[in-house]
Formats: sequence, C-alpha cells, structure tokens
Amino acid sequence: MTSQQRVVVIGGGMAAARLAQRLRPAAAGDTDGGGPALTVVGEEPHAPYNRVLLAEVLAGRYAHEVIALPAPHDGVRWLSGVRAVRIDRASRTVLCDDGQAVPYDRLVLATGSNPVLPPLRGLFPPGHDGLPDGVHPFRTLDDCAALDAAAARPGVRAVVIGGGLLGVSAARALAERGVSVLLAQQGEHLMERQLDAGAADLLRAHVEGLGVEVHTGCRVRGLRVEDGSVRAVELADGYVSDAGLVVLACGVRPRVGLARAAGLPVDRGVLVDDQLRTADPRIHAIGDCAQHDGVVYGLAGPALEQADLLARVLSEEAARYRGTRALTRLTLTGPGPRSGSVPAPVPLDLAAFGSPSPRPGDDVIHLSDATRSAYRKVIVRGDRLVGGILLGDLGAVGTLARTWEADDPLPPAAPLLHLLTTETATPSHPDGGS
Ligand SMILES: Cc1cc2nc3c(=O)[nH]c(=O)nc-3n(C[C@H](O)[C@H](O)[C@H](O)COP(=O)(O)OP(=O)(O)OC[C@H]3O[C@@H](n4cnc5c(N)ncnc54)[C@H](O)[C@@H]3O)c2cc1C
Repeated sequence: MTSQQRVVVIGGGMAAARLAQRLRPAAAGDTDGGGPALTVVGEEPHAPYNRVLLAEVLAGRYAHEVIALPAPHDGVRWLSGVRAVRIDRASRTVLCDDGQAVPYDRLVLATGSNPVLPPLRGLFPPGHDGLPDGVHPFRTLDDCAALDAAAARPGVRAVVIGGGLLGVSAARALAERGVSVLLAQQGEHLMERQLDAGAADLLRAHVEGLGVEVHTGCRVRGLRVEDGSVRAVELADGYVSDAGLVVLACGVRPRVGLARAAGLPVDRGVLVDDQLRTADPRIHAIGDCAQHDGVVYGLAGPALEQADLLARVLSEEAARYRGTRALTRLTLTGPGPRSGSVPAPVPLDLAAFGSPSPRPGDDVIHLSDATRSAYRKVIVRGDRLVGGILLGDLGAVGTLARTWEADDPLPPAAPLLHLLTTETATPSHPDGGS
C-alpha cells in the first residue's frame, strides 16, 4: 500500500482504536513519506474507550475518563457520532448518516456487536418508543450512564437478565453500589461458557456474599411495565420481583448488517481469511464482527491481536492470522469495608480458557478447596492443554496461560499435577479483563 492510500475504518471501538494506533497516518509527521490517510467513522459520540472496564465505571470505581484509550495520532481523521449507513463497493465509498461520502482504497469493518434482546413479553410496550424506561443493555458508555442514573434512585431494585461474564460483572457492579440485585440465569449455572458446575458454585457463593440474589435454571418470562417504565419482572416459575431497573445481559450478536447489504459473505460474523480480508480484497474485518476459521471471538484480546496483525498486512508486511487462544480474566471485587465488625468481602479472581468440560479419554487434574474459595482444574488431551479454570487462587496462571497461548506441548516427564501446583508470578492484565 502506498502512503497516499485512503484507509477507512467503520467503528470507533477497541479494535479500531488499536488499528489507528498501529497504523502511522500520513500527517503524523513521518519523515519517511508517511503512512496511509486514515479516517475512522464511529457512531459513538465519545473518544475511544476500554469497553472491558465499563463494569468498573458502573461500580463507581473509575470515572469514565479513566477508561479512555490512548488518543489517536494527530493525523487520524476521527468522525465521532457519525454512523456509516452504506458501503458502495462500485465507487469505493462509505455513505454516512450525516450525508458525508467517504472514499476508500482499503476499508476495515470494525463494527463490533449488538446486545441480544431476549423475546420477553413487555420488552417493547405498545405506544412507547423503544425499550421501557429503566431497561438497558450493557454495551456502551451511554448504556453505562443510563444504568448509573437509574441505579442512583434511592431504594431501586435491579434485575440482571443473563448470568454470563457480562451479567455477573453488571450484578457485581450494582451490588458494589449498594443496589439490591436479582441475577436471573436461564442456564444451569453461572458463566457456562467458561466454568464447570463446581467452579460456578464457588462463584455463585461469592456473588451471593456480595448481596446478589441468584436464580439459576430460571427463565425470565416478561416485564411488567406501567406508564412506559418497568415495575417488575416475571420469572417462568411464577415468581415476580419488583424491578425499577433491568439490565439485559443475554449475549451479543456480531454487527454484520453493512457487510451483508454490501453483498459480502456473512455467517455469524463477516467471513475473513488469514489476512483478515473479506471476499472483496479491498475490505477487511476485525474484532467482534469478524469470523475467522469458524470462530467469532467476542473478546477484547482477539480484537486487539487482529488489529495488530491487520496493521502489518496494510503495511504490506507478510503476516497471517492463525487465531487467538484467548484467556478470560475477571476480578470480582465487593463493597469496601462494612460498618461494625463485618469485614469487606475478599475479591475473587477468575481465569478460564478453552473448554470447561472434558471429552472421554481426556486427563483431568483438579484441586478444590471450598473453605478458601479456591478451585483449579486443567484438562489435558494427549500432550496439550485443552481447557482450564482457576478460581480464587491464580498462582499457577502464568505458566498455564503461556502454555495455552503458545499451544506448547507439555513436558513428557513432568507429573501433570505440577500444572496446578507450580506457582508463578501473575502477570497483570493491561485491559482489566481478558
Ligand atoms: C461490559 C463489557 C465487559 C466486557 N468484558 C470483557 C472482558 O472482561 N474480557 C474480554 O475479553 N472482553 C470483554 N468484553 C468484550 C470486549 O469489549 C469486545 O470484545 C471488544 O470491545 C471488541 O472490540 P470491537 O472493536 O470489535 O467492538 P466494539 O468495541 O464494540 O466497537 C465497535 C464500535 O463500532 C461502532 N459501530 C458499529 N456500527 C457502526 C456504523 N455503522 N458506523 C459507525 N460506527 C459503528 C459501535 O458503535 C462501536 O463503538 C466486554 C464487553 C462489555 C460490553
């Protein structure tokens, strides 16, 4: 790609911000002729921020400025609050909702994902525009501000629908602010994608210790809405909980509408090859909206790795994306010291990777200590790690993470128990999550 080429990125989230950091734009004062002319079209009105840390903002632990990502280089043209509405591949132009037409030589889709809205009675009340007042997804800084305002109402009761990573994080954050919270999880246990039943039991005990009422195996049937505002949530077993605030944390779906309308092949995400290229060689996709080798990651680590790799591809380096072996990390802090002699709950650390459940023939090494809320398990197939869960005590995470991420063979002579008993320094995580 020559320095005069125009690179346009649709989406101003984590992957876009990282790509903008890595690509050196032409006007950034380069002495070697500079890089491409870079334009980012982002519909959110804010400077780019670290989405992974939104729960910390909701908890009141961080001001929203703290989660800002490094500002883009001076030479980047960053169009905030502007939505791309159509890609015209024939004229190589992105059309925006403010009437602008932005021409490109290379286009990058980094549109992220949308929250899934569950099929609940009352979610779209007749005569009301959009979701009832008090009902919010948890995806953006604006969602966070709306949740923050709703949570500030004295005596408000919150119901979080969905007990995955997002729902658990939201419930913890609201409880940390002193809000009364019910967490409703349709599946059998919390964080089913990452944890097995044993680890989820410890997590549940911890979350309940923060004051959250947890219901598992429990489908939410509908919302009771009056005058456009949510008042209560009905569970399928007939239980009705008051609710002035409802958080929708039922998963996400890649945002693929623009790509599909432009005639690009889409499955769950926009299909890309090892150079993160769609079927149109001038258009790439990265982050939550992209599907590589059958996988849509929906995690920050892979989004950043893809952005790094694409920066190299756009700089005409030989680079191929081989997938990311992602590790999910979460720290569940609780409220600060309580009054009187009741101590503050100890934070619970969690790390998980790969599959939480073994296949027949796999070796499983497992240590658990319910008294100290510690749980360690790894699954080994042949000479490779295929999954692992560490809860409470992450002493072994450094070695395990390195072995998992590199897909290294395990040393043939070492007893497998050493995987769980070898203590290493825990690497700090720059993103506050996986
Ligand atoms: C509360 C929360 C907690 C999370 N915690 C973790 C965690 O602990 N670990 C982890 O690995 N991941 C976590 N994630 C997921 C992680 O944030 C995402 O994987 C990551 O943000 C993906 O980056 P992205 O750039 O692909 O998408 P996003 O960061 O979502 O950015 C996409 C951007 O594109 C914009 N956009 C979309 N369409 C258009 C358009 N047509 N025109 C203009 N702009 C558009 C969107 O508005 C958005 O700003 C969490 C997510 C949330 C919401």
